[in-house]
Amino acid sequence: MIPVTTFKGKTVALFGLGGSGLATALALAAGGAEVTAWDDSAASVENASSAGIRTGDLRRLDWKAVDALVLSPGVPLTHPKPHWSAELARAAGVEIIGDVELFVRERRAHAPDCPFVAITGTNGKSTTTALIAHILKASGRDTQLGGNIGTAVLTLDPPKAGRFYVVECSSYQIDLAPTLNPSAGILLNLTPDHLDRHGSMEHYADVKERLVAGSRTAIVGVDDSFCERIADRVERAGTKVVRISKRNVLADGIYADGPRLVLAQGGATRVIADLSSIETLRGAHNAQNAAAAVAACLAVGVGEDEIRTGLASFPGLKHRMQPVGRKGETLFVNDSKATNADAAAPALSSFERIYWIAGGVPKEGGISSLGTFFPKIAKAYLIGEAAPAFAATLGEAVPFEMSGTLERAVQDAAADAERDGNGPVTVLLSPACASFDQYKNFEVRGDAFVKHVSALPGVSMLVEV
Ligand code: ADP
Repeated sequence: MIPVTTFKGKTVALFGLGGSGLATALALAAGGAEVTAWDDSAASVENASSAGIRTGDLRRLDWKAVDALVLSPGVPLTHPKPHWSAELARAAGVEIIGDVELFVRERRAHAPDCPFVAITGTNGKSTTTALIAHILKASGRDTQLGGNIGTAVLTLDPPKAGRFYVVECSSYQIDLAPTLNPSAGILLNLTPDHLDRHGSMEHYADVKERLVAGSRTAIVGVDDSFCERIADRVERAGTKVVRISKRNVLADGIYADGPRLVLAQGGATRVIADLSSIETLRGAHNAQNAAAAVAACLAVGVGEDEIRTGLASFPGLKHRMQPVGRKGETLFVNDSKATNADAAAPALSSFERIYWIAGGVPKEGGISSLGTFFPKIAKAYLIGEAAPAFAATLGEAVPFEMSGTLERAVQDAAADAERDGNGPVTVLLSPACASFDQYKNFEVRGDAFVKHVSALPGVSMLVEV
């Protein structure tokens, strides 16, 4: 845990006692702050009380005596409308911050030079975060990995010289971190997402820009117009910018030439890494993630050989285009995280001859945007509520089967793939749907896929079941 010493003896109101909220309350209390915590859920309040946190309705606080309101990133700061606790704080002129800001202040107070990589973007954050941490760990560095990826940042070990931090930041966390100052900050890409919570694309982009604007080295993916403009603006303000691209040659920066990453610097270019034999980094989207990871590792002093070694041994993240088993020419891939059509596109573009398992709770628009990939789909196996609608979209273009359940889909797809006889094929779970009709969440769905694959005769598993 990182005890929050920068609020020692001060009065802190905290709202939101989910996983990271409770960890934050404990870290504040451990550092000597006077914390009063609250949540709309009675069970969360009860849980915090039994963990030794003082709880109380923040509406009854004397806000003139409060030094800060610490909000959980899940609590609306601005959109669709500010949470009542944020309104109370604003009316009293009390600063509103989150756990990432508390971490940043601790680092500044105790180890301002310890390397800190922060990662944001619309897509690819977790993959890039995990990849950077993996490269650092594989090179023997003391590495702490956390933030939005699932480990609350204040549960990490405290900042000290020589310790590396790799922290994934959602826009909500950036919005609550006004002095965020990573050694290397990554903005991967920007496409419309979560606009319900940000009001407009402009506001969403402004928030994301803050992460790179505060960085010593700003690493920006320049494949969309929002990020392109951000890179120019941050550079004009005097920050060192490293541009990355998954599709265009750059005069300066790191770009993908197919699966090769090219470093362009001072008028010269050379290949700095080759991803072609790295199963876990397939596809142009992963070239973007890997280019950002390479740039960040270089920025914090990792050697090129160490970077290449780390890339080659990256185990990948579960449920994201994860190779899980193999039988003869068939590779089984778990992409359960793809809960809408946009998220399924990278997997469909990364494989040839696909036996595609799709369906669940459909999202608006269905799979019509995936039409360009239909010629690569040997057959589709449709499950869950979305099956009839997906069948209608596939129509005559792609042979399909109404499999109903995931277990049945795995068995049918595996049998058809085995009979294919046209070289390497992929049985891909990339559902383009939420999972709630049949599973608790995408993780449980992905685990079920792995279990059903492991039950097939003659499959060699690439992951533990
Ligand atoms: P995030 O943490 O931003 O949600 P993840 O790394 O968990 O992103 O990846 C989620 C999904 O997003 C992946 O399964 C893949 O389909 C897609 N994806 C990953 N990286 C990128 C990228 N750089 N650009 C576009 N899509 C991506």
